[in-house]
Amino acid sequence: MDTVVQDYLEKFGVREETRRFLVKPQCMFIGGKWVPQGDRESFAVIEPSTTGVITHIPLGTTADLDRAVEAARTQFDGGPWRKLKPLERERLLHRLADLIEANATELAEIESIDVGKSVANARDVDVQGTIDTFRYFAGWASKLHGRTVEPSLPGDYVAYTRKEPIGVVGVIVPWNFPLQTMAWKVAAALAAGCTTVIKPAELTSLSTLRFAELVHEAGFPDGVVNVITGRGRDIGAAMAAHPGIDKITFTGSTEVGRTVGHTAVGGIKRLTLELGGKSPVLVLEDADIDAAAQAVANGIFFNSGQVCDAGARVYIQRGIHDRFIAALIEHTRTLKIAPGLDPDCFISPLVSGLQKDRVASYIEAGRREGAELVHGGCLPDRPGYFVEPTIFAHCRSDMKIVREEIFGPVLVTAPFDDLGDALSMANDSPYGLAAAIYSNDLNRVHRLIPQLRAGTVYVNAHSTIDPSMPFGGFKESGFGKDLGPEQLDHLMESKAVWITLH
Ligand code: NAD
Repeated sequence: MDTVVQDYLEKFGVREETRRFLVKPQCMFIGGKWVPQGDRESFAVIEPSTTGVITHIPLGTTADLDRAVEAARTQFDGGPWRKLKPLERERLLHRLADLIEANATELAEIESIDVGKSVANARDVDVQGTIDTFRYFAGWASKLHGRTVEPSLPGDYVAYTRKEPIGVVGVIVPWNFPLQTMAWKVAAALAAGCTTVIKPAELTSLSTLRFAELVHEAGFPDGVVNVITGRGRDIGAAMAAHPGIDKITFTGSTEVGRTVGHTAVGGIKRLTLELGGKSPVLVLEDADIDAAAQAVANGIFFNSGQVCDAGARVYIQRGIHDRFIAALIEHTRTLKIAPGLDPDCFISPLVSGLQKDRVASYIEAGRREGAELVHGGCLPDRPGYFVEPTIFAHCRSDMKIVREEIFGPVLVTAPFDDLGDALSMANDSPYGLAAAIYSNDLNRVHRLIPQLRAGTVYVNAHSTIDPSMPFGGFKESGFGKDLGPEQLDHLMESKAVWITLH
């Protein structure tokens, strides 16, 4: 570990157990065994506020993947996992949730240090969301069943359906909420009785590796959960093509999702894609301006804008436009830019230098295309991958900053006159992950909700996420759902059983 990172951990009093985890050699988790780097290549993990090296992770090979799939396959096809009674699966999932809860502070510190994110948000959102997700799906393990049916066909039959787990699930996740996104997919898969092979994003594998230790401690049979660290283009692509994997559940960019989808469908795999977004927000003239401004600022700047359903395009009814923009700027000024471990941090560094450069190039494009920069727009003069929260006003629909997902703290806004225009602008995007409305006019709100082409509509709120509610996109934001009972439908096959009675 570089000394800048050691000093950073020292300054913010990071716990001893977190440091011990960060300095030990990182291993993959395959078939219940810890697999060290050995002669494989490695990947340097960078702490985003200091740009120092935290540790290295092994770059897994396709032979490692074969071993992991075989372990998951063996366990699924006839291992003790498959024979566990539903309540035993439920108990194991609760035991894992208990362990995550008992280690919540350590996991939050690991996530903050690895991703750069606010440690308070890591604790309250990422880790708490992970615990809640495991508890929610634990309850489902014992409540999955088919139907008995009365067919109209001549003759006498007993006809019923069985819900059976899909099999080995390949889990590929991005770097913005590494632990939580993985948990959404893995908790549901295990509740359904599947086994899993997980590939975290190469930038942010550490919380998943610590999670694997807790899986081991909870007593899951070997091979039920496997973790391979490695590059997307190698291990991720090989997973999408692997004949031993029955389903791919992928969260990431639309661009990579398209490739993964093509490959997976080629092998007739089941598939869930949670992809990019550019979620619109409509602020109607009757909205409570201060409350809406605060919620809109949080809706884009939370996690420094590295949120798939961030409210990234805001359309404001003309009568309140100037007052709303003033309130938005005022609230944005209060958001503290700081390293993730600072307890008051709201705007944390972005995950990598590449992401910082990418976001900076969008800010430059906005300036070039003539959007009005009303707040921010600079890279703070300090080490680390920081970008100021930035607001553009009077943006046109054809601008690059309006059309493309920036995945950083950049908000684009424009006024609208009537609701028809607002709807057209909101739906004028290849994405359809989420949308938000700020208004207390029930009539107008209820008329808007069905017309917004998005997987989630928030009203007077943003990014309220709970394991009981499905999450997933329309259009190029993907298909299939994570969370809620809907997710379980994508993890189980329905088998139709016919018995002829003589
Ligand atoms: P990404 O698409 O670059 O990578 C996602 C994962 O795919 C990583 O694990 C990566 O290693 C792997 N990968 C990369 N190339 C691959 C390939 N050729 N084959 C298989 N796997 C490959 O995305 P990212 O930059 O890590 O994350 C940001 C993106 O994720 C944004 O577009 C964001 O909107 C999206 N996202 C979506 C949701 C959602 O629920 N819809 C949630 C979070 C993030």
